[in-house]
Parts: sequence; structure tokens; C-alpha cells
Amino acid sequence: MHTNYQNYIDGQFDTNQAEVLIDVINPADETLVARIPESSRAAVDAAVEAARRAQPAWARLPAIQRADYLRKIAAKIREHKAHLAALITREQGKILPLAEVEVAFTADYLDYTAEWARRLEGEVLTSDRVGESIFLLRKPIGVVAGVLPWNFPFFLIARKLAPALLTGNTIVIKPSEETPANAYEFAKLVAEIDLPAGVFNLVGGRGATVGAQLSAHEHVNLVTFTGSVATGRRIMAAAANNLTRVNLELGGKAPAIVLADADLDLAAKAIWDSRIINTGQVCNCTERVYVERGIADAFSEKIIARMAATRYGDPSRETGLDMGPLINRAAVDRIDGIVRKAETQGARTALGGHPAARARGYHYEPTVLLNCRHDMDVMRHEVFGPVLPIQVVDSLDEAVALANDSEYGLTSSVFTRDLNAAMRAVHALAFGETYINRESFEAMQGFHAGRRHSGIGGADGKHGLYAFMETQVVYLQHD
Ligand code: NAD
Repeated sequence: MHTNYQNYIDGQFDTNQAEVLIDVINPADETLVARIPESSRAAVDAAVEAARRAQPAWARLPAIQRADYLRKIAAKIREHKAHLAALITREQGKILPLAEVEVAFTADYLDYTAEWARRLEGEVLTSDRVGESIFLLRKPIGVVAGVLPWNFPFFLIARKLAPALLTGNTIVIKPSEETPANAYEFAKLVAEIDLPAGVFNLVGGRGATVGAQLSAHEHVNLVTFTGSVATGRRIMAAAANNLTRVNLELGGKAPAIVLADADLDLAAKAIWDSRIINTGQVCNCTERVYVERGIADAFSEKIIARMAATRYGDPSRETGLDMGPLINRAAVDRIDGIVRKAETQGARTALGGHPAARARGYHYEPTVLLNCRHDMDVMRHEVFGPVLPIQVVDSLDEAVALANDSEYGLTSSVFTRDLNAAMRAVHALAFGETYINRESFEAMQGFHAGRRHSGIGGADGKHGLYAFMETQVVYLQHD
């Protein structure tokens, strides 16, 4: 049984059948989950125009009224949480408890953002002149295009939509073609409330077509994108023509540094959590470990035991799992290629290292690679799967230098009981986030922002909200 979905444009589901449809496949068993439209250029234009028409009236509403709509959407999500979580598991492959967390977090994120309605602030500046007041106003940017990845597809809708709408923008969302069904279910929930037409629009399609059209669209004022570095570059290039603003949340290669005095059980558990959550397909997942020589064997033994005990399978049919499949066949082949290359470069596969022997689905064995060196591809490029490469180091300074020597700069973590060492690491690490003695997973009130090729701008909390506004300074001469 699969569902055929239709775009949501200007407050209505499109009744025209698209000429080209995209199949959405369950990565655990390769069955068809849904079909979505590959939107025509005319459909994308209609969505942008609807957002553009709706924006001035939406911006005129008091923020507290815009916030009420976010709360209504959150309530609808909670009403339908079981259905939404099961669908996310089917189309994306994450285990059901994680899909349930994603749905609950999405509703909470909408409510959290709504709380900012009475806290959006401008500034009053000191004037150089007699009888003048200077005000700095913060205003919405206009029409936002949200281009989404597949790894936390439902949450990413809220991460784009909630701050955009609260601050008076309208939005066109393009979900990933791998995991769009949950976004269409989101649109059905929005259709049940009285959100003004055009404030939220959803168009399906591939990146090279619909994503590219949105990024280059003259009436899109901000493209907020989460996905790979390569796509981020394409979006920025497409946006350049109109000098459209971009906010890019891109890939990561998060280092975890384990010092000799660390609680090794805690470190092994936290790094395991950070490597197998969502089958290793998270931008802030631990992607490489630097462990001090004295405890390297003891730590490796513990993490290998944990990785070996990882239960994986089809999350729609099996319970008690730690992880599901990878997103598609290409991911299995890509990750297997990374492991083979690491072996030829001198790594030793201490665990796993192959596609899982299962009749169906895109499963990969939990894998640990020892004897890794900084010049190996597996230590430098994002894996995005359950593969953990470990390199032995001789000091904190060496670990920090290797951690920083990366094109990525999103997330980092440190395991130590020494407060001085932790703070030295914090000051030396050039990353947008640092986790001390815990797994990597950000909070909605934080600020998720990458350095270097991990992105431009950021999301969440106060600083994420202000990324959806621009300033106007008013010089008022009154005497
Ligand atoms: P992706 O870049 O392949 O695709 C993301 C989206 O971009 C999809 O909707 C796709 O259709 C669209 N797209 C593709 N080509 C396009 C183009 N030319 N123009 C416009 N849009 C285009 O990424 P993915 O595989 O869906 O996601 C995995 C990547 O996302 C990983 O690198 C991961 O680290 C990153 N990610 C980052 C964060 C973060 O917050 N920094 C969060 C989640 C995922």
C-alpha cells in the first residue's frame, strides 16, 4: 500500500496530476511507500508567488498571533504522533523510538519558537545630534525557501518553518526526494488549521530541478538549506545571481578526543551513541576518534564490544533495535568503498566492514577501524554511516591540532575528568559546537552553526531566529 501525494500551494492541495512522479522507497525492505510529484517549473513559480502575495499581511499580524498558529500546528502533530513516527520510520529507516523523539521534538520546537513572540526586539541607539532618536527595527526578509535533507526530515521542517513564520516571513518547503512523505502529512495537518493561504507551501521534486529553481528564484529572499557541502556550494552559486541570502547547515566530520584520564565506560557509551544514532547519518555524529596512547587499547576494546552488540534490522518489523538501514543502495556502496580504501591505506578492520548479510534493505555492519592516520580518507571525509575510525595520539595538543585540520567545523567532543584540559580544548577547538563528556546532540535553545565548509549562519535559539530578520535603521529628527 502506498500513498500518492500532491503539492500544497496557496492553501490548497494541487489537483493537477504531475507528469513525472518520484517513488519513495522504504530502505529497510525496498518496498514502495509513496509517490510524490516532480514539480513543474510552473508549480514552483506558483508556490513562490503564493508566498510572496501572503507575506505582507502575515508580517502585519502581531507576532503573538503568528505564534498561535505555530502552537496549533504543534498540537496537530501531537494528535497524530503515532502515525507520523511510523511513517518516518518506513520512509527514512530510523528506529521507531527515535522517530517518536523526532516527532515530539518537532512539536516542542514549534512551541519553543512561539515563546519568542514577545521577545523579538529592536534597539534604540544613541544619536550624535540634538533632538534626534535612532531606532533599529528588525523586519522579516520576505519569502524563504527551505530545502531539506533526509536524515531528520520532519524536524527540519520545523527548524526552517518555525523561525521563518514567527518573524513574519512566508515559506516554500522542498523536502528531500528520499523522505518527502512526512512533509506531505505535515501539510495535511496545516490544511486542518486556519493558517492564511500562501504562508506555508510545499513542493516536491529533485534537487537539480526544484531545489535549483528555488535557489535561483528572483522572488525568493532567503534560501535556508540543510544538506551536503557539495549541494551547499551549488545553492550558493545559484543564489549569487540575485544576491539572495543563504543560510547553509552542511556536513560534519566530528572529532571525539579521549584523554588518558577519561571515564572510559562513559566515553565508549557516548561515542557509540553518537556513531550509531540514525545509523550514523547525523551531521554532528562522531566521525573520528583521537585517543591517548596509554588508554588506546582499553578504550578500543570497550568501543568494539559496544559496536559489536549493536542490534540492527528492519525497524518497522523488529523491536529492540539500536539502528536501522542506511538511506539507499548508493550509501551502502559508498561506505563500503570508504572502508576498502581505508584498508588499502593501512587501517585494520577490527569489527564489521561489510554490507550486512540480509535478504533485503540497505544495511551495513557496525564497523570499527584501528591504526588510522590523519592522511587517510576515512579521517578526512564525511562517512555518514556506522563506521568508526580510531587514531592514537600522544597529547591533547596533538589531538586538537588534528581535529582542527579539517575542512569541516561543526561539532567536536572531549572526554576527560580534568577541568583544565577540558577548558584548554574548548578554547583551542575551532568548531561551532563542543560536547564535554557526553554524546553529540544539540538543544533547541543552543545555536547550531558550522565553521569552514560546515556552513554559513546557523539555526536554533535566539541567534537562529534573528537570522530570519533584517534590520532597518530609522533616524527621527523631532526637535
Ligand atoms: P543533499 O545535499 O544530497 O540533499 C539535501 C537537499 O538538497 C535535498 O532536498 C536535495 O533534493 C537538495 N538538492 C540537491 N541538489 C540540489 C541543487 N543543485 N540545488 C538545490 N537543492 C538541491 O544532502 P542529504 O544527502 O539529503 O543530507 C545529508 C547531508 O546533510 C550530510 O552531509 C549531512 O552532514 C548534512 N546535514 C547537515 C545538518 C546540519 O545541521 N549541519 C543536518 C543534517 C544533515
